[in-house]
Amino acid sequence: SAKADGKCCGRSFDTSLEVRALRQRQLDADMRIALEAGELTLHYQPLVDIRRGRVVGLEALLRWHKPGQGWVSPAEIIPISEATGFIVEIGRWALRRACMDALAWPGLSVAVNISSIHVRMPGFHDEVAAVLRETGLAAERLEIEITESVLLDRETGVLETLKRLRALGVRIALDDFGTGYSSLSYLTEFPFNKVKVDRSFVRDLQDRPEKIAIVEAITTMARALAMEVTVEGVETPQQLTVLRLKCCDIAQGYLYSPAGPAAEIADLVRGLDEGLASATSDVILQA
Ligand code: C2E
Ligand code: MG
Ligand code: MG
Ligand code: MG
Repeated sequence: SAKADGKCCGRSFDTSLEVRALRQRQLDADMRIALEAGELTLHYQPLVDIRRGRVVGLEALLRWHKPGQGWVSPAEIIPISEATGFIVEIGRWALRRACMDALAWPGLSVAVNISSIHVRMPGFHDEVAAVLRETGLAAERLEIEITESVLLDRETGVLETLKRLRALGVRIALDDFGTGYSSLSYLTEFPFNKVKVDRSFVRDLQDRPEKIAIVEAITTMARALAMEVTVEGVETPQQLTVLRLKCCDIAQGYLYSPAGPAAEIADLVRGLDEGLASATSDVILQA
């Protein structure tokens, strides 16, 4: 608002920075309370195998309904939690919650976003192993989504951590691929099972041949490295048609479903699978 920007009072830019810093400190404090109070939840978004037309997994996404204020976007709270270190506690909680929730969806994988700050911590592998042991979820059903920022620092033992996770059976996905600082050599050095092509490459795909070329190049490269390709942000049948032609493996987006609460996932997946299998679903299948 004009007030929050400090403009109404004719004051300087600093005011808005101050206001922002204040809001961030407040949000951080509120979030710690919210986690304790059980106000943080995970919603799950289906991942669809494009060729087989079936839901194969779910991505866990953080949701916070702040009493009296409504939903607070992860885009706002994740960066703040990374700045304060609270993201590590969120990560621990999310891992356990997601592994427990996934027990209700046999045969489907569950993907958890983990901050690079957390992955770099020396105990991360042991934390994952303990959660799998305690929840009883098969390691093969857990996927860890990390971003390129993890890879920037070669000295932190991240490579070793990821290799040990792979040895457990856990799958590793490189999230938001194409938006960061990726050197292609990372892809050969790190043991990824899949890359997730960022939504920005999908958004106006139909009108932008260069974006199609990039998706195709990523797919070709991933094939050569025996990695799967997921595309995020698929919203239209037209986009799906292109992505199918370019041999992407898995699609995720509002075309199928946004993320939903754990209690609704079994029904959501059943409905989607039925829709994908039925002849009347050619909007989605034969798009
Ligand atoms: P992400 O991991 O790349 O997750 C995909 C984001 O795209 C989600 O936003 C999802 O709701 C959104 N999305 C999915 N399909 C569509 C679509 O068709 N169109 C559009 N416009 N958006 C779509 P969300 O839930 O707001 O999360 C944003 C980001 O916050 C995530 O991006 C991830 O980086 C981070 N995040 C979310 N939950 C967690 C968490 O538990 N831990 C950590 N460390 N980060 C998280
Ligand atoms: Mg993700
Ligand atoms: Mg992503
Ligand atoms: Mg993304």
